[in-house]
Amino acid sequence: MGFAPPGPLVTGPFVGPASLPSPSQPTPSGATPSLGEAAAARDRALASGEALAHVTELVDTAGPRLAGSEGEPKAVAWAVARMRKIGLSNVHTEPVKEPRWVRGSEVAEIVSSTNVGSKVSSSLKSSPRRALAVTTLGGSVPTPERGVVAEVVEVGSLDELSALPDEKAKGKIVFVHVVMERARDGAGYGKAVGARTQSASIAAKKGAVAVVVRSVGTAPDRAPHTGALRYVDGIAKIPAAALGVADAELLHRELERGPVKLRLVLTPQELSPVDGFNVVGEVPGSSSPSEIVLLGAHLDSWELGMGALDDGAGCAIVLEAARQIALAKTKPRRTVRVVLFANEENGLAGAKAYAKTHEAELAKHVLAAEADFGDGRVYEARLLTDPEHAGALADLEPLLAPLGAVSSKEGAEGGADVSPLRAAGVPVFDLRQDGTRYFDVHHSENDVLEKIVKADLDQAAAAFAAATYALADRAGDFGRVPEPKRERH
Ligand SMILES: [Zn+2]
Repeated sequence: MGFAPPGPLVTGPFVGPASLPSPSQPTPSGATPSLGEAAAARDRALASGEALAHVTELVDTAGPRLAGSEGEPKAVAWAVARMRKIGLSNVHTEPVKEPRWVRGSEVAEIVSSTNVGSKVSSSLKSSPRRALAVTTLGGSVPTPERGVVAEVVEVGSLDELSALPDEKAKGKIVFVHVVMERARDGAGYGKAVGARTQSASIAAKKGAVAVVVRSVGTAPDRAPHTGALRYVDGIAKIPAAALGVADAELLHRELERGPVKLRLVLTPQELSPVDGFNVVGEVPGSSSPSEIVLLGAHLDSWELGMGALDDGAGCAIVLEAARQIALAKTKPRRTVRVVLFANEENGLAGAKAYAKTHEAELAKHVLAAEADFGDGRVYEARLLTDPEHAGALADLEPLLAPLGAVSSKEGAEGGADVSPLRAAGVPVFDLRQDGTRYFDVHHSENDVLEKIVKADLDQAAAAFAAATYALADRAGDFGRVPEPKRERH
């Protein structure tokens, strides 16, 4: 796999709590008491192993939890109870109006190709059709009840799709075959995900009847990966689905041999919007409680797997970080607020509702971060704010070094759920997690508890605990994100 191994700080032997600076020892940067408390929170998170218990309970209580599904209210009730149990204050829910999209049946089969329906297969009386592993993309419209049958035209990129003459797409099923690269920072996802989100509208404009994409995932297996698509207003909506990687490769080979006809049946439904909830809990600040450092993760998940990594792991990381901060003898001066957002996957309704509900309070949000990258180890911290405050993460170096992580001067991205806060000028910080394995399972049936690596999850929870404590307690302000940098790309 074309992945360059990370540096020694990341792959080096696990540094156990015993060798980390203890709260009573001065840290290498000359240390304030707050760094001692932050280091203690880090060490407790590493030693407790509680992060895995949070996500295990979530998965076992709620299961998959797409907006509007049966699992969602179970997850909300669990989050409220869990926050109370771990010692958070002001625990409550906030309403979110969210879409309800329900997956139906899903069939993709090659009905004719050089191999399928050939003399060899018919003489053996085998099925004249070849089923492909497929899943509907989130938000897709259905095919007609009996499906669509059409010839397939393949493109290798969105650019190729955009350049495809209309007459080659008209009446066809367009197959978008973009191979996702494996990378620690998930850069391959950014490059490949447009195939999932944009293909349907580009192909529809050219007269295509449906779209199938190669799954935006990195595992060489048959599990298809779902995820939301985006229809462009004013362009006809056509059905869209993802093929498992192995099945996409098969279709690609069949198309190299000759023309292929595909039958696609997808029966999703868009039902009336429902009421969902963001779940909020806090560790109140000791001296500036009205100032907020927000830690987010999303409570919803796609329903093919269990949402253990996406984003059960992120929920566990921020809950464990907050639990350790709540356990500190001296609390940080600012409030640490945990928000488990509703409906990240299918439209960001929870994030948008939060920003609206708290509009008057956004000026008091001094920092925000999100954990939404599975169980990966934290390897780097970065911040997005104005140039005057950009060096604020230097304080974190002694806390992160024992975990094998560094701080970077590169600007942070902020996750999807904190993007409305960034848009309002709230500085965002990233604790970047190793995403090398993440896209093997992301949005697929393989997103299950058994894929979590406990030592990695504990390291991430420890990094979030230490960094959040230190930043929430840091003297001075963090500035604001300058206007031109507020939009996330
Ligand atoms: Zn996610």
